[in-house]
Amino acid sequence: MLKINEERFRRFIRKARAAIRRADKTDMRGCAPCKKKLLERMKRPKLPRVLNAEVAFHCRTTPTARPQVADLDLYGRHVLFDANSLLAVEVPESAARYARERRAAPPQANGALWCHHQPQWPLIQSPPLKLVLNVTDRCNLACRYCWVRNAPPDDGKPPTMPIKTAIRALDLLKGRQINVSFFGGEPLLAWDVLEAVAEEARKRTPEGQPRPRLHVTTNATLITATMAAKIKQRGMSVLVSLDGPYKVHEVQRPWPGHNSYAATLGGLIALNSAGVRPYLRATFDDPDTDLAGLLEYFSEIVEAGLASGVSIEPAVLSEGCATGVLTAEGADTLARRYHDAAEWYVARARTGKVLDFAPFRKMIQRILYTRHAKSECGAGQGYMMIDADGSIHACHKGGCEIGHLDYGIDESRRAAWSDNRVYHQRKCMTCWARYLCGGGCRHHRLTLSGDVRGEAEAPCRIKKMLIREALWILAELGPERCKAFIR
Ligand code: SF4
Ligand code: SF4
Repeated sequence: MLKINEERFRRFIRKARAAIRRADKTDMRGCAPCKKKLLERMKRPKLPRVLNAEVAFHCRTTPTARPQVADLDLYGRHVLFDANSLLAVEVPESAARYARERRAAPPQANGALWCHHQPQWPLIQSPPLKLVLNVTDRCNLACRYCWVRNAPPDDGKPPTMPIKTAIRALDLLKGRQINVSFFGGEPLLAWDVLEAVAEEARKRTPEGQPRPRLHVTTNATLITATMAAKIKQRGMSVLVSLDGPYKVHEVQRPWPGHNSYAATLGGLIALNSAGVRPYLRATFDDPDTDLAGLLEYFSEIVEAGLASGVSIEPAVLSEGCATGVLTAEGADTLARRYHDAAEWYVARARTGKVLDFAPFRKMIQRILYTRHAKSECGAGQGYMMIDADGSIHACHKGGCEIGHLDYGIDESRRAAWSDNRVYHQRKCMTCWARYLCGGGCRHHRLTLSGDVRGEAEAPCRIKKMLIREALWILAELGPERCKAFIR
């Protein structure tokens, strides 16, 4: 297999080199017969610079695919990116131009630069491996973009998941390592449920087996020293929602009658004192948000030891209540803001300090180590959400019921979610970003088009922005440097 992969790589490099030579010849024919100029031209770096750290592709995924190359103009840098192998090479402008011209040719024309391919990855039919318990829809904050706040008030659900229901949910994981994430609303409002589940998980885990994996997503405003100590004792990982400095956070995530920013920082400090380093999650709902400024702010929080990293997500992607609308103007603004963030990230990396910023890190990892994203997630497969009323949903965002604890999983309802492979989203197969993206979030598709296989334009645009920035960062820093801080 490796042999084939190496062969493919060499073939691709050969083609890229040939493209450069031909493009250079064309250039030379057109210019004045000035020897000096010609010599200067010949001194130009001719070789494409490979941006992947590993060229031993995980090509078992696409062993027979020929390159399908997208030429990307990344702020003056030119990158040829093979959608099938994930090979990324930086080339001189002349070669990029050549590729662009060739791309317009019919796919049969030498077949090299633009070819359609569908891999055959096995469909992994998995029992639930990870459960999200939506322990309550209640929350002490009134975040302006929150879908729970915007949900119909009387949906017949109990306000908090009964402990009995939460314990019954664990039966879905029978015989496997317990892996549970607590979600809400604000899950700490149902602290007794968390405690009961953690204790039950401990009891159900035989001696010598890996301990239960527990996680909580919280606004951290209610964390006390006792809770923090329990969280540490249980080995629970924590994701804290913090949108930015006081002015940003307080406007977006108000706590009527309280200072929500101070309360969240208080929670972070309590966790820190107990030896817990949470990950941060920020949400923004205006495309013209100063993302570079936010990264600067979060880098201070991380340096102070209060968190291990941050993810900043647009509300348009994150919550079911988001409109999903991103105007063309908004998209341009957002792309600029992401690029500012990428410039900040590169400048920071050059000083030897790196902030773990999940959206860039994830994409850089995939390119750097040629890791194909076969799907976006395992929703409806290995991953499921149990709501407070015992209903089972494919995804933690809800509104996608596939069963109930009373009668188990209804396979006919799960069917729509059962195949998550990227090539089952028809439009994705013509998209150059497909094996980095993985096909996008199916819940977004459901929310925006009413169908898990429907269209979701805004998320696609944002995904491609992130991938372009990741490629640009790789071109700026080079794979070796990126390898030093991204594993
Ligand atoms: S960016 Fe959009 S079209 Fe492209 S692979 Fe992702 S979801 Fe599919
Ligand atoms: S469907 Fe979307 S929101 Fe749900 S788990 Fe998958 S990626 Fe996440």
